Amino acid sequence: MNAPSSEALAALCSFARRTTHADLALAVELDAQGRSTWSTGSPALPLTGFNLARSGILERAWHGEPVDAAGFRLPTAILHALQGAPTHLLYVPAPSADSPHSGLLLLWKQQSPAEGITAQLPLLSSSVAGLLSARREATRQLIAHNQFIDLVESVPAGIVLIDGDGVGAVINEHAATLLGCAAGNLRAADLAGPMRALRLRSDNHAELEQAYAAQMGNVNFAATLNWAFGERTFEVDTHPVRGNGEHGRIWLFTDVTADLLMAAELRRLASSDPLTGVPNRRHFEERSAQIIAAREASGHSVAVLMVDVDHFKAINDTHGHPVGDEVLKIVARRCRDALRDRDLFARFGGEEFIALLSAPVIDEVPAAAERLRSAIAAEPITVGGTRITVSVSVGGAVGEALPGCDATLLEDLVARADEALYQAKTAGRNRVSMAA
Ligand code: GH3
Ligand code: MG
Ligand code: MG
Repeated sequence: MNAPSSEALAALCSFARRTTHADLALAVELDAQGRSTWSTGSPALPLTGFNLARSGILERAWHGEPVDAAGFRLPTAILHALQGAPTHLLYVPAPSADSPHSGLLLLWKQQSPAEGITAQLPLLSSSVAGLLSARREATRQLIAHNQFIDLVESVPAGIVLIDGDGVGAVINEHAATLLGCAAGNLRAADLAGPMRALRLRSDNHAELEQAYAAQMGNVNFAATLNWAFGERTFEVDTHPVRGNGEHGRIWLFTDVTADLLMAAELRRLASSDPLTGVPNRRHFEERSAQIIAAREASGHSVAVLMVDVDHFKAINDTHGHPVGDEVLKIVARRCRDALRDRDLFARFGGEEFIALLSAPVIDEVPAAAERLRSAIAAEPITVGGTRITVSVSVGGAVGEALPGCDATLLEDLVARADEALYQAKTAGRNRVSMAA
């Protein structure tokens, strides 16, 4: 601990030793049990942990006169430092609230105590007490500061902390790397440039600019916005913090790239069929509701095509369930390829698939259904060297998206397409049937 008060205490010990002719002057900070928590002396000695509790020094009432040292049991560490037992001893208590036993210990070995030292003692006592408190406070602050820095650096996020007066700022390593400046303490004004530059580098800077500009001058402004930089995204949180002024503010930069990728992957898994990779029924129903709602505004028609593999049970029975799975994957892929990109295609369940064609020209719907049918029947499906002849039946239904009908339209279309599919099955399979 190199607080200025430590050096001042060492100088004070040296002064006390010279004026009293003592052989050792020791400023000691003691806890309530009499254990030393810190000390400095003249001559400068490496004196560490010792305890004055059983020495008899702390119980005695001191009146400023050196006394015979023989009646005291001094700790070995002090006797060792003094290189023998002292002849005289004087303790100048310098108590403070959180260190009631602290003081200045003067020990005489070769020399005799100087005459009339009592007069100097009150001043000495208060100086020692004052400096010990100052040293403790400085230590506390340094520890608090170090703990604060440790804390700020241990957070896996960029931190910019603008002081309560709005002038100073603390910035940790993560934030410094991001902003391209040095970590540590700097002027808040020097941060404004790098912060703005970083924001302008983001892919969504226009949106951010607008969001932050709207809050200019609002000291209570709090927001959590994503700053996107190509592959990486940072969640940037800012809010006012209480300091010793009004304009304290924290900016937290958290890299949420992995979280976002994970969320996207979870969404994808939740919305797709694990076997074929095409959207699942749940996703189909959600998306088609949105599509129909959008169509509704303009009153365009929508069509549903239901696709069911013919005699699929027989394929499973003949070739085994795993081969049946491979057939389903290929059927799904061929159907997907036979549709336009903007058509919605999903596995509806089992060996049934469904397509929603938005805004089709009515005449095109049977043609689209026929493309699906022939995409499967045109070429046998080969699994593990075995060529399997597969066909599908397709049922289609067309409806018009009209205001207020979105809730029932999809159900209605699916029911009618299913009915048409049934007709295609009974008519001999491997064919298309359109609902009237
Ligand atoms: P139809 O021409 O009348 O449609 O006859 P089908 O045999 O295709 O119809 P059915 O509904 O009787 O049989 C469908 C079969 O599909 C029964 C079921 O075991 C099988 N199946 C459903 N899901 C899967 C799957 O994920 N993998 C495999 N391999 N088979 C499945
Ligand atoms: Mg079926
Ligand atoms: Mg079937």
